Amino acid sequence: MGLNKLVQPYIILLLSLSSQAQMDPVWKDYYQFPIKPGIRNTLAGTMGELRSTHFHTGIDIRTGGVQGVPVQAAADGYVSRISISPSGYGNALYIMHGNGQTTVYAHLKTFADDIAQYAMEQQYKKESFRVNLFPGKDQFIVKKGEIIALSGNSGSSGGPHLHFDVRNGQPAVLNPLSFNFEEIVDTRSPEVRKIAFKTVGIDSRINNQFGRFEFDVKKEEGIYVIETPLKIKGTIGVELYAFDRQDWTRFRTGINTIIMKVDDVLVFEQNIDEIPFSKSRNFYNHINYKELKDHGYRYHKLYVDTGNELEFYKTNDESGLVTIENNDPHELQINMFDTYGNSSEVRVSIKGSDSTNFLTLSPKGSSHEILGNVLTVYSQKDSLEYAAQFHFADIRKYLMPSYSVDGYNVYLWNLLDGIPDSVTMRGASEQIPVNAMIPSHQAYSHYSPFMEAHFTKRTLFDSVYLQFSYSEVQQLEIFRLGQPDYPLRSSVEVLLFPKNNYNKDKTSVYSMDEAGNFRFSGGKWEGNNIRFKTNSFSRYTLINDSIPPNLKPLIINEEELVFRINDNLSGIKKINVSINDKWVLMNYDPKRRQIWSSKLLDEQFKGQLKVLIVDNNNNERYYETTIK
Ligand SMILES: [Zn+2]
Repeated sequence: MGLNKLVQPYIILLLSLSSQAQMDPVWKDYYQFPIKPGIRNTLAGTMGELRSTHFHTGIDIRTGGVQGVPVQAAADGYVSRISISPSGYGNALYIMHGNGQTTVYAHLKTFADDIAQYAMEQQYKKESFRVNLFPGKDQFIVKKGEIIALSGNSGSSGGPHLHFDVRNGQPAVLNPLSFNFEEIVDTRSPEVRKIAFKTVGIDSRINNQFGRFEFDVKKEEGIYVIETPLKIKGTIGVELYAFDRQDWTRFRTGINTIIMKVDDVLVFEQNIDEIPFSKSRNFYNHINYKELKDHGYRYHKLYVDTGNELEFYKTNDESGLVTIENNDPHELQINMFDTYGNSSEVRVSIKGSDSTNFLTLSPKGSSHEILGNVLTVYSQKDSLEYAAQFHFADIRKYLMPSYSVDGYNVYLWNLLDGIPDSVTMRGASEQIPVNAMIPSHQAYSHYSPFMEAHFTKRTLFDSVYLQFSYSEVQQLEIFRLGQPDYPLRSSVEVLLFPKNNYNKDKTSVYSMDEAGNFRFSGGKWEGNNIRFKTNSFSRYTLINDSIPPNLKPLIINEEELVFRINDNLSGIKKINVSINDKWVLMNYDPKRRQIWSSKLLDEQFKGQLKVLIVDNNNNERYYETTIK
């Protein structure tokens, strides 16, 4: 688990040149605000904001809880792409401008009439609700301020708003707020909730202990501080849970710039001004993914973790990690800036490691943990320090505690020296649920009697210790593929060897979360085995789905067709509606569980209506009637 060597000085130089070009005053006033220009607007999201699966790519402009607000072209250009989908951006327009940039307007209700008419004709031509259209340069020329659409709530949108983003040709998203919009007022400083410190390497200590420790912050004279000074020895990483807010809105938004110094020397800087799409999956490595999965906290790592390919960092030594080698006191300082220049500061005093005045940190409750290559095992102690037995396939090793704290003996084991099956302490045995170390940056296959897992060289960010296991619970065969709090950069291909017999036409792989929810993962049968791809570690099982989707007619007449549809398990794959065997365009919104018709001019819905809804396991619901 070495530190990566991706952030080279010349890349930093190029980056700072390109962000300076972007700050050119001519560029800054290029765009007008795309909705209600000239009056105050508020945001529900900013570019670079940490969402649960990605960096947010643009700004979310609030529309007062309603749909139908006119959306205007931000500058002269032409419509270069029209996309319509039941998920993601829903109805979206892309406008290409003379400066080589593209602006994107998403979750729209409807497009301007000429664009809408063209899109519908193409949907009828392709016989598909979902389309991705690329009109020519001369087809839909727009002027700055021209109304191109009405705002909406389509696709994966959780409430009416306009998503607006700005892209360069790379393609990468830029920060729309760097274009001088006076419609947004932000005088509020970023807010800090927690700061965390984690040891890197088996010899590092925080307050004499190994692990990751979180601290609440309080504000003293305008600066965020933690209650007591920290005692640090060796190399550590710092993580920050913080967010921004703007005036007149309760929404939490992102912080793009964070600078960390130790004794006034720069250690780490992030400046999220540009996110290339090809690297956006590195979001999972920028944040502490385990904290997001376990507690919902979105921590920025203030270090460039192994395998992180993003380039908006500057660091002292390519890592941003902090190393404290002497006993002198040090001062750690973190400054955050939002796009409007509002700032906040965190200061942490670091005491020399011979200090005795520090806070004791209790183990988090679990009896063992893996951090990097280090297995930590906690054992309650009476008064004595005693050896723990680490059991391997054919040998056992005795280990004395590395330290004692708060009624616990703590044993640190370097997993590079072997992965133990179990550890015995005072006669009680603890299983270590890890079977294999999967190396990163190379193709690798793991084989077991119940599954194969094939990793490409891009699947993992870093080498990880994983659990592969098989169990049967209430007639479900459960295959554990790793731990769900490890992120994947790209997919892993898995072949399962089930023991039971299944109806192969109707049975697929489903992931199973801790709450017991199932999610369709698909899979292709190969004899008695089933192969699938996934980009998340989870438990997987096989389920037979033989129940067709539900279909309920709501409106059927010459002008309009509306149905409620939903599926119990595998999800809806195909919707096909026709009248006298002529295809009819049905719009689909999974949030509302509704499909509704759009009809071409002069068409009437008269004759034999046929409706076919098919789920992912090919269960069919069929409905037929005559419209007179
Ligand atoms: Zn958005």
